[in-house]
Amino acid sequence: MSQRHLIIGAGLAGALLAVLLARRGHRVDVFERRPDQRIKGYEGGRSINLALARRGLAVLQEAGLGDAVLASAVAMRGRQVHPLNGDSNFQPYGQSDAECIWSVHRGRLNHLLLDAAEAAGARVHFHQRLGLVDFNQRRAEIIDDRDRCARWMDFDTLLGSDGAGSALRNAMQGHGDLQPDIAPLDHGYKELEIPPDADGSVQIERDALHIWPRGGYMLIALPNTENTFTVTLFLPNQGPTESFEALQTATAAREFFEARFPDVLRLMPDFENDWASHPTSSLATLRLRRWHLDSRAVLLGDAAHAMVPFHGQGMNCAFEDVAALDRCMASDTDRGGAFAAFEVERRPNAEAIQAMALENYVEMRDSVDDPHWRLQRTLELALAERHPGRFVPRYSMVSFTRTPYALAFERGHWQRALLAQATKGRQDLEGLDWAALDARITSGLAPLIDAP
Ligand SMILES: Cc1cc2nc3c(=O)[nH]c(=O)nc-3n(C[C@H](O)[C@H](O)[C@H](O)COP(=O)(O)OP(=O)(O)OC[C@H]3O[C@@H](n4cnc5c(N)ncnc54)[C@H](O)[C@@H]3O)c2cc1C
Repeated sequence: MSQRHLIIGAGLAGALLAVLLARRGHRVDVFERRPDQRIKGYEGGRSINLALARRGLAVLQEAGLGDAVLASAVAMRGRQVHPLNGDSNFQPYGQSDAECIWSVHRGRLNHLLLDAAEAAGARVHFHQRLGLVDFNQRRAEIIDDRDRCARWMDFDTLLGSDGAGSALRNAMQGHGDLQPDIAPLDHGYKELEIPPDADGSVQIERDALHIWPRGGYMLIALPNTENTFTVTLFLPNQGPTESFEALQTATAAREFFEARFPDVLRLMPDFENDWASHPTSSLATLRLRRWHLDSRAVLLGDAAHAMVPFHGQGMNCAFEDVAALDRCMASDTDRGGAFAAFEVERRPNAEAIQAMALENYVEMRDSVDDPHWRLQRTLELALAERHPGRFVPRYSMVSFTRTPYALAFERGHWQRALLAQATKGRQDLEGLDWAALDARITSGLAPLIDAP
């Protein structure tokens, strides 16, 4: 008889994992604490839209779902940067239009994955929350949140895709030393919306990720198919000014926007209402020493490695986890061995993208508006053109290739040191010793296997 896998959480990772495992003929039951959003509508709780990059898309394509996802996605070909003086500038992400990221609607993507999971034979149970786990008896307590009734389910394996606040992780912690390290970010976020204009058209460029960098904080906007934009303000949680603490009322928030984001404020007629009714949420990085408990349980996605969202990679990383876990489970019949191999493969990569995501916050909120950073970026693009497939900007490695994050981190570090050294004290690239740079690159960087 086939093994019984209980997947906890039918978010993005859990629903996709259910698709792949059910297609392999496994018995899969998915328990999700929320109602079925296909009936009730998406309830939110996390960001409304997300950036899908090549590595996440590749996993969806391998699952035969890529085209359906792209059918309702919006391509973003670069950053549209909006300084305070109103002179916005477009910074392409890559060297061609093919190098883009995609804005996808979280609720719609989740619907599609849930439909595919059920079509593959997985059973998805809504309003069902994981409570306790008896690892010795291999039984999990599932609580129906409608009537608080609990029942115990037998399992062979528990697969934890229940997000940053994972109940499975908490249960595993009592049995194995996961050594959780949670580093809260001292900045939070709030989502707002730019609606279409009176004739239904977009109010700002549609094919870009918009950034209003303001040094210590920033506002971003991602396009939606309905010609709306989801706007996210990232701001320190505390402080006498320019913090969520200081913006307790919609009136205070309006004054702040008038001073710091006047051009966006004009595009948001429902500003006060959105400000007052949308939550302010927190962000954190979660690292664990172990992701699995022998053959009984394993964590993936945010449950294993929640990260700050500034590289737009949490979901992409979670999809890579799903593909890797499916592959390890298919190639190793010893379940404990498969989980260990999964963890060995994915943990260093998750830690690398967590670090890059933290670094990217500084780049987005500050550096993109800095002339020296822009000079480095110009040189970076020039070197990428001189050494295609070898000198690949870090952002491109992360967003447009499937290069393991850990390798992108390492190569990115080397490349950034070279850029900093070559541009030190310069205003432009006039008279640069290109031959010396070329020589360093050919000797220091091997060709990248998965170049864009
Ligand atoms: C503001 C913001 C912007 C982001 N932008 C991007 C982006 O642009 N690109 C990107 O790739 N990533 C982005 N991310 C990250 C991305 O949202 C996550 O990495 C991704 O959702 C992780 O998927 P998951 O399935 O692991 O977890 P989740 O999507 O959180 O799903 C967990 C599921 O488990 C359920 N659950 C929780 N507890 C239980 C329980 N006890 N029992 C049963 N079910 C339970 C939840 O209801 C939920 O459905 C962003 C995150 C934030 C906060």
